[in-house]
Amino acid sequence: MSAEIIDGKAVAARVRADVAREVAEFRAATGRQPGLATVLVGDDPASAVYIGGKRKACVEAGMADLHQHLPADTAQDKVAALLDELAVDPAVSGILLQLPVPAGLDGAALIERIPSGKDVDGLTTASVGLLARGLPGLRPCTPSGIIELLDAYDVPLAGTPTVVVGRSELVGRPVSQLLIARNATVTVCHSHTRDLAEVCRGADVLVVAAGRQAIIGADAVKPGATVIDVGMHRTEQGLRGDVDFPAVREVAGRLTPVPGGVGPMTIALLLRNTLLAARAAAGLS
Ligand code: NAP
Repeated sequence: MSAEIIDGKAVAARVRADVAREVAEFRAATGRQPGLATVLVGDDPASAVYIGGKRKACVEAGMADLHQHLPADTAQDKVAALLDELAVDPAVSGILLQLPVPAGLDGAALIERIPSGKDVDGLTTASVGLLARGLPGLRPCTPSGIIELLDAYDVPLAGTPTVVVGRSELVGRPVSQLLIARNATVTVCHSHTRDLAEVCRGADVLVVAAGRQAIIGADAVKPGATVIDVGMHRTEQGLRGDVDFPAVREVAGRLTPVPGGVGPMTIALLLRNTLLAARAAAGLS
């Protein structure tokens, strides 16, 4: 039997519509407009495309686009000074530094300039600590988007054997923590895991963020499992994921496509985070 395809585009559209409605309510209640400051250093074409998508979505949601573009040869202290200005600017609800920054800049140090209340990417040490301790804070967008997708399809998480492939700071680690917070029974795999397919076969929910195209085949999937493919690989045939889609589709119960699965959720959750940051700054819950 063929798996149900999880429609990330449709779920993301719903989240974005909800955010736009709540932004309108926020503006009516406070007279203020949430603002997102995307910061791009240099002219990397892929980064420019990503930033363009975020800015467009931000305007469509009724938020202010407070984009900042610096030349590739900007010195570390100049980028830091801009981030410090944005950190205290009341018009700025959220700050997103597009990674990677050009060679010669210390991206990790720059990220730390962002106060946790404006850290809409959820990447600062403070935000990571809040997540690890289960305290309120802004959560990374792609991991939150994965949880949102699972919820949209009523996938039970409490007590569910769940495997996450990947332990990166961006995806694997935070999504594991979000799943633990939802009482899933989580196993985290990485490049040292012995017999990956066997471990994955134990999962009712399998989240794959390995950055290796088609690393997960049908032999790694329990029949009926829900499979979330985070991978993104540009190939001559188009965008592909970490999961062998045609093969896994015949075994899984539910499966995200690439494109159209996790990808659209990331921007939707960035908008939600910007609204949450604006609400918190305005003293609203
Ligand atoms: P990453 O930083 O390269 O991390 C990859 C993780 O996978 C590492 O923890 C690595 O283990 C593990 N891994 C690599 N090979 C493995 C193997 N053979 N068996 C088991 N584990 C293995 O990548 P990332 O930033 O998390 O991104 C993962 C993928 O998601 C990429 O394709 C990326 O493009 C995509 N992505 C998509 C979105 C989206 O919006 N859709 C957002 C972010 C990322 P070690 O720790 O041992 O090295």
